[in-house]
Amino acid sequence: RSGFVAIIGRPNVGKSTLMNHLIGQKIAIMSDKPQTTRNKIHGVYTTDTSQIVFLDTPGIHKPQSKLGDYMMKTAEGALKEVEAVLFLIDVADGLGGGDRFIIEQLKKVDTPVFLVMNKIDKVQPEKLLEIITQYKDLYPFAEIVPISALQGNNVETLLTQIQKYL
Ligand code: GDP
Ligand code: MG
Repeated sequence: RSGFVAIIGRPNVGKSTLMNHLIGQKIAIMSDKPQTTRNKIHGVYTTDTSQIVFLDTPGIHKPQSKLGDYMMKTAEGALKEVEAVLFLIDVADGLGGGDRFIIEQLKKVDTPVFLVMNKIDKVQPEKLLEIITQYKDLYPFAEIVPISALQGNNVETLLTQIQKYL
């Protein structure tokens, strides 16, 4: 199995931390060279049976300018070219305008989107259910996976879930 996965989310939700954890021990490629004009390969996770290319997808944010507007268009294109999108949120933050904006963009593509609830080490388990309900009301997520990218909790489960979509 092999395929491409985009990681998106507001700044500081833990995208880089997750990437490091995912491929930390199994680095095949780490490159900043642009793969296409839209996507930048960030890392490749490989096992005997699978290869997952994780892409940094910049520009999924509220456009402030014409350039920002252009970046949004290319980001939207990037989301169509992958097998799955990981939408990371910080469960310690409330559901705010930043995440709502991203969800509106996700509605333009039909790629499966995972709601990856990061930083579960920061909140009580009861809070998670409340957050899941809020986000599920806004978008039909393909999978919902709570993790702690920092501590590595549930990251293996996330990888297993991703493989179903490759
Ligand atoms: P990015 O901007 O989305 O790439 O976010 P980073 O990966 O740079 O993380 C932003 C901050 O959140 C850093 O200080 C991380 O250590 C912290 N962080 C990331 N994941 C977790 C997590 O699961 N739990 C906690 N408590 N902090 C996290
Ligand atoms: Mg980062």
